Amino acid sequence: MATISATSAKASTKDQTVAEALSRILGAVAPLPAREVALLDSLGAVLASDVRAPQDVPPFRNSAMDGYAVRGSDVATAPARLTVIGNVAAGSAPTRAVGGGEAMRVMTGAPMPDGADTVVRVEDTDNRMDTVTITVATPAGLSVRQAGEDLRSGEVVLREGTVLRAAEIGVLATMGRSRVSIVGRPRVAVLSTGDEVVELDANIGPGQIRDANRYSLASAVRAAGCEPVVGGIVPDTTDDLRRALRDATSRADVIVTSGGVSVGDHDHVKPVMSELGSIEFWAIAIRPGRPLAFGAVRDGDRSIPIFGLPGNPVSSLLTFELFVRPALLRMSGRTNVERPRAKAKLLDTQKKPKHLRFFARGIYDAETGTVKTTGPQGSSILRSMSLANCLIDLPEGRDTYQAGETVEVILTEHPEPRS
Ligand code: AMP
Ligand code: MG
Repeated sequence: MATISATSAKASTKDQTVAEALSRILGAVAPLPAREVALLDSLGAVLASDVRAPQDVPPFRNSAMDGYAVRGSDVATAPARLTVIGNVAAGSAPTRAVGGGEAMRVMTGAPMPDGADTVVRVEDTDNRMDTVTITVATPAGLSVRQAGEDLRSGEVVLREGTVLRAAEIGVLATMGRSRVSIVGRPRVAVLSTGDEVVELDANIGPGQIRDANRYSLASAVRAAGCEPVVGGIVPDTTDDLRRALRDATSRADVIVTSGGVSVGDHDHVKPVMSELGSIEFWAIAIRPGRPLAFGAVRDGDRSIPIFGLPGNPVSSLLTFELFVRPALLRMSGRTNVERPRAKAKLLDTQKKPKHLRFFARGIYDAETGTVKTTGPQGSSILRSMSLANCLIDLPEGRDTYQAGETVEVILTEHPEPRS
């Protein structure tokens, strides 16, 4: 549950650094309660409790090859002639044991007959049915899978906190877990604000623009493994905003709005957020994305984190990446919420305001260890994000980063290391 105090409703006037803002945000959110979901709905989620193997996997000794189950002592030298006493397919059980001088045909996955400790693969025999000639000497124990060699009954196979990928879901399936307990994944209400913002299929009138942000942000929510609750476009009035935020509060664990957080005449998000809960701060020393509101909306004894992102499409998506995504991951139970970074040689000189940390959209080439910007970097040029595979992180304190310098990039196409 979010643990934001509703009483600290004071907007800070001093710019926050990215690190300060992020640490305040991460300090204010906490993992959601655990819940049980169908195994197939758990991809990307965090395991809420340890899982032990209820039995050995594989549960019985079985053949790793199509071939002949034999006694290792009979095939230590080749050629060897053995009497074939039957055969056993995967899914059936051997009807008798294998004695000295005998062989039983076995298929991959078939249970090993008693008495046999080795499988000679078909390719190392003459593949006959009555008497088989082993043509290649085979060490004892070869091509047999022991019971429990993958998972031992009773051992903790997956620890609480594990991020579930395809492999873990396979392991859970092997153990018969059709349902699994995961840390809840936040439902995230996504709203756009602005009198000029219209639906995608609307005829665009003078001064109007299509709503890019609800779509990009809802998709970013989904890419973070969370569930977007797509709200509407909210006109620039306090009444409409109040109503929209109240409605979102009842349907989501987190609210993300875009637009209306600057100091324009129609920027109502901050006062309404303050009225319904609290605002922790609203200015960050970055470009793009400087105005940003963070706080909580009250709903009875619930406190729902709210992010008021700026309206410019690059700013909103970038501040989502820097601040909202880590918060959503933390709420989803992840401990590691940071993207991997790399050092790279900058190919084009970048100018920026000295006092702001600048996140240029970049194309990183791992092979050459270089990065170049995607071209025009205006905060409304969404294509700069679309062309990018990284963010070039240019710290405050300097106004120019020269071509040839080594800089740091955030690899936005790569998931954070597993935790
Ligand atoms: P604001 O933060 O509300 O002042 O908006 C800043 C800029 O972003 C303005 O040019 C808006 O028209 C634009 N903008 C705001 N919301 C959206 C949106 N949902 N989709 C595309 N552009 C937007
Ligand atoms: Mg606006």
